[in-house]
Amino acid sequence: MISYDPQNIFARILRGELPCAKIYENDHVLAFQDIRPQTQHHILIIPKKNYVSFADFSKKASDQEMAGFIKAVGKIATDLGLDEDGYRLIANHGKNAHQEVPHFHVHLMGGQELGPMVSVKRKEI
Ligand code: 5GP
Repeated sequence: MISYDPQNIFARILRGELPCAKIYENDHVLAFQDIRPQTQHHILIIPKKNYVSFADFSKKASDQEMAGFIKAVGKIATDLGLDEDGYRLIANHGKNAHQEVPHFHVHLMGGQELGPMVSVKRKEI
């Protein structure tokens, strides 16, 4: 796994060097709108500590951080009114998933019909 790059875009947003459209914040989590929204609601939720991806977070974060992160994701979805009609969570890790920003984040997508599961490139066998 790659090491954490403190100059990645989300690290810079966390330090206040770049702006974001903030949705929610607590001591451990920041949530803001994706700059290129793909659905009516497209929110990025990130931990404030430095983790490259879900794989890194799942190995290194404390149980308390993990629980706090999951609770924050659920609260944001509820606060946006998405519980009833539904939403989708996506966390891309690494090159096969085309992870663009190397700071762990969850995409929260909803506010509309989302169609079937994300398209997966079929591997020729
Ligand atoms: P990934 O492919 O890493 O899972 O998703 C990264 C997401 O970050 C993309 O959906 C992209 O639109 C979003 N993004 C990239 N740069 C910025 C930025 O400067 N600000 C915000 N708010 N989102 C960004």
